[in-house]
Amino acid sequence: MQTQKNIRNFAIISHIDHGKSTLADRFLEITKTVEKNKMKAQMLDQMDLEREKGITIKLQPVRMEYKIKNPTFNFEHFTLNLIDTPGHVDFTYEVSRSLSAVEGAILLVDATQGIQAQTIFNLDMALNENLKIIPVVNKIDLPNARIDEIVKDTANLLAEDIGQVEKISAKTGQGVEKIIERIIKDVPPPEDNLQKPLRALIFDSFFDPYKGVIAYARIVDGFLEKGDKILFMATGEQGEVLDLGIFTPEMKSKDNLFAGEIGWVATGIKEIEKCRVGDTIASLKLKVESEKLKVIENKKSELKPLSGYKEPKPMVYASFYLAEEKNFNVLATALKKLKLNDAALTYQGESSNALGQGFRIGFLGLLHLEIISERLKREYNLDLIITSPSVSYKVNLKNQKTISIYSPSDLPDRSKILTVEEPWVKLDIICPKSYLGSVMELLKNYDGVWKDTQYINPERIILKYEAPLSMIIVDFYDQLKSVSSGFASMSYNLIGFRVSDLVKLNILIAGEKAEAFSKIVSRKRAYQEGKSVLHQLKKALPRQNFAIALQAALEEKIIARENISAFRKDVTAGLYGGDYSRKRKLLEKQKKGKKRMKKMGQVDIPTEAFLAVLRKK
Ligand code: GDP
Ligand code: MG
Repeated sequence: MQTQKNIRNFAIISHIDHGKSTLADRFLEITKTVEKNKMKAQMLDQMDLEREKGITIKLQPVRMEYKIKNPTFNFEHFTLNLIDTPGHVDFTYEVSRSLSAVEGAILLVDATQGIQAQTIFNLDMALNENLKIIPVVNKIDLPNARIDEIVKDTANLLAEDIGQVEKISAKTGQGVEKIIERIIKDVPPPEDNLQKPLRALIFDSFFDPYKGVIAYARIVDGFLEKGDKILFMATGEQGEVLDLGIFTPEMKSKDNLFAGEIGWVATGIKEIEKCRVGDTIASLKLKVESEKLKVIENKKSELKPLSGYKEPKPMVYASFYLAEEKNFNVLATALKKLKLNDAALTYQGESSNALGQGFRIGFLGLLHLEIISERLKREYNLDLIITSPSVSYKVNLKNQKTISIYSPSDLPDRSKILTVEEPWVKLDIICPKSYLGSVMELLKNYDGVWKDTQYINPERIILKYEAPLSMIIVDFYDQLKSVSSGFASMSYNLIGFRVSDLVKLNILIAGEKAEAFSKIVSRKRAYQEGKSVLHQLKKALPRQNFAIALQAALEEKIIARENISAFRKDVTAGLYGGDYSRKRKLLEKQKKGKKRMKKMGQVDIPTEAFLAVLRKK
């Protein structure tokens, strides 16, 4: 018989690449959840993009059954619910959701890398949720593993004995079975709340064209069955359980879910906004039985929603416009579909004189932006114009009003502005002491303000800084990796808005303002920024049939210039004789290019150019 006592719910957290998805693979194998011949590496990374980039973007729950061989345990059989989480800083929001649905977390530290910024950041989040932490040092099979040193650092970080830190190889499987025993022994089972009225926490959701919105839910109190009438406490929306079940990792139907279990619920709701992540599902079941109505009404007023999650906060905004002569609705529909499965994506319609109709989109970070633009391209075949990413600004006007803007094109006329404020972050950087000098030098270039230096051990330090979000969101991480030979890592948190001396930098291509490349920059950095954008543009723009001048301007004043020389006129001149079809293809391509050129003014700018400029690569 299954009770709460033989359920364990846990997440795996770590810095990116420390081995979470690989460890999850070993768990799936040991528990025989996935048959050996169906097993592939990083099994839980199900999206194509995840598999290609080798990273986890979406959290992924899976339920496993385990028979314990150790006779000192009271039970033989345990149900383990694991949630694999993404480690990249852009997806912190996904991690926070998984942590609210479990009782424990495995903290994984790579034995060749040691403690990194996201290790500490994720650990802090887990401790905030009062989770039981099981520290594990991974990759002990590697010849350059510094096992003793990193076990000691990990123990210190948690103020535990070094004996508490497990040593494993997620790759070879060494030590992994012992971790399962640790989870069963140390992570508390869910509370026995079966008798209480239903409360379930939604920690993720997606839209299924047949079943409507599917909620990922942790049942906290009571139980849920097929046909139950349900209430979403925050939105007041009502639904019906059309189907429910567990993740194996595929979705498998089951008759019910009870307190302590993690599973999915087909809610019958058609709009994902009404089934919000962090909301509490309650029951409406007894309400229809009239004689019990009174009891339920009383109970309902007593019933408190579970404490919700944080709303995802966009960090960076960019506008997307269609580069082709396609119906604008295609982009609108594509975004709507992506949004169904990405609660963190926020957007708003917008129109620009130069670019037509488009969308201003809020992202969690630049990786998130790249993923969305890549998905629009691949899954919806859309060629896009992407404006320079921008943070949000608070503009204090002379008429006493304050407005928020998300795009350089919304910056009011200088004569109306009193001050402009921009978001700042608290930045933690972890690196070996030997890189202290170069990292501090870099931070100076990015307007960082030093606050504190702490030691993890005599060789590794945590540098605490404050810096403008706009400075660190674009290429700071790449620069940090490069000045530290890959050894430094970082995490950041918004701390508020501060006044800055900011100006609008305009970019002109062949004498015409290219609104998409406009930027808000600090005055003292304007020249440097202008130069850098022109340089990237020159590299990224294909040559045209005519010479092109690239210029950067502060308001109206030109401050920098580059030239792209002309391409030879006859594009087919290089092709010999008979291959007419190739010739025709080229000419057609050129024609298509021309069509777009019209739309963009004079110059054809491929989507890649926008991405290249914003990545500064
Ligand atoms: P995640 O980002 O934390 O999910 O990390 P992944 O599971 O995707 O692993 C990152 C990389 O480390 C992959 O190339 C894995 O094959 C590798 N890896 C993970 N665990 C081990 C291990 O124990 N030993 C070795 N040698 N490589 C590992
Ligand atoms: Mg992963």
